[in-house]
Amino acid sequence: MTHQNNLVEYFLHIPPKMWQEFCNNMLDCRNFNEEVIGFFFCKRHQISKIKIRYIPKAWIVPLQDCYEMQSTSGLVLTQKFHSYLLEKYLQAGLHVVHIHTHVGEMAPEFSSVDDYYESEYALFLSKHFSQKPRLISGVFNQSLQQGQFRIWDRKGKNCYSVNFSHSFLDIHKNLEQHSEIMFTRQKIFGEICQKQLNQLRVCLIGCGGIGSVFAESLGRLGVKNWTLVDPDQLELVNLNRMSGATHKMVEQHWNKVDYVKSLIKKIYQTGSCVNTIPAPINHEMAKAEIATSDLIVVATDNHLSRKQAQELALEYMRPLICLGTHIDINPTNNTPRMFCRVTVPPLGGGWCLMCGNIISLQKAAVESAPIQINQMVHRAGYLEGVNDPAVFWLNSICASTGVGVVHGIVSGFLNVDTGIDWIYEFPNSTWHQTDTKYLETPDCYFCSQFDGLEVETEADI
Ligand SMILES: [Zn+2]
Ligand SMILES: [Zn+2]
Repeated sequence: MTHQNNLVEYFLHIPPKMWQEFCNNMLDCRNFNEEVIGFFFCKRHQISKIKIRYIPKAWIVPLQDCYEMQSTSGLVLTQKFHSYLLEKYLQAGLHVVHIHTHVGEMAPEFSSVDDYYESEYALFLSKHFSQKPRLISGVFNQSLQQGQFRIWDRKGKNCYSVNFSHSFLDIHKNLEQHSEIMFTRQKIFGEICQKQLNQLRVCLIGCGGIGSVFAESLGRLGVKNWTLVDPDQLELVNLNRMSGATHKMVEQHWNKVDYVKSLIKKIYQTGSCVNTIPAPINHEMAKAEIATSDLIVVATDNHLSRKQAQELALEYMRPLICLGTHIDINPTNNTPRMFCRVTVPPLGGGWCLMCGNIISLQKAAVESAPIQINQMVHRAGYLEGVNDPAVFWLNSICASTGVGVVHGIVSGFLNVDTGIDWIYEFPNSTWHQTDTKYLETPDCYFCSQFDGLEVETEADI
């Protein structure tokens, strides 16, 4: 079976923790010299006319009693178990990813037996389920270190290769790109890192005091592709903390998104792409951009928009970074206390901004209430709103740390697979790192919707 060329590009991005658990279960289910199979069930997300991403919603590794036959020459699941699987997940409109291993450590190729069975399988799926689910198949070597994926058409006639990634960020590498002189002094981080930064598509929600510094700094590190979301215009009270913002811009009623766009455009004469959406995060256009970006960064000063960003990140399984600062007066000695916080929840759940108490659901609920109620609550002193204290230098520590985190993820010197939550405290000058083990919340309403089914046996059916 030759892999056809196709105008459409297919992507399968599985979160690192989910992939690790899946692989561990696959390896546990196997005796020496046996092949083993497992399934993911995915939602389809059309990113553009020519890009389709499959988002894993559940996975299963069948135990040995689910097989009729398991040997070096092949695998057959019992009929009962197989129909149970398909009925449970495909009725829900999900698509099938079927992964099997070949014996040995060589880079595996699909065999002619694989071609035959998969072709029949793809045809069977579209004939028997009205949602016409697609079949994606993967073949791996026995240690699951090397493998490849392909997607079948509904007739089982042709298949196309699928881009697979199990890292936190799934960035497409355009290797033809030449390196630019302006990044000479960052060469120490590697050419690939620079190219990936150049390719990365960041969606920034909140273009205020933290967001603008973040965009400028990450822009100068090499990120050229941006979507900026913020409904506000520049005001005089913003000028204490937005680099390069002028009185004239305020008089001309600049949108904050256009101000941040001007910062990026100053860095790149050509080659940058900045999409501005002067609307709130729940605007349909903003939602679509957030769902298709490589990385979501939320730097707003309210809890509701951060909650909405986290919900979208979970639904579309997009990486999320949350940036925030807080200033108050310590009542015991009447001196100011300052905090900045950088939070990266693990991709695909485990814990999130809500169950990790990074944001307050109570405040988010108040913020979502109609304006009249909002004003009433505000007068009663329950809500910190636009008048939250903020200074440029504290915002800069927060934004710069956020940029460092992105750099670390792309370059590979920072592992965020289980998430991070860092809090800097000034003037104590202390960095607190939350132990993310304690943030894990298996029954979170928001982030535990994934059917991490792990292993199933016939007896469970
Ligand atoms: Zn095979
Ligand atoms: Zn959660």
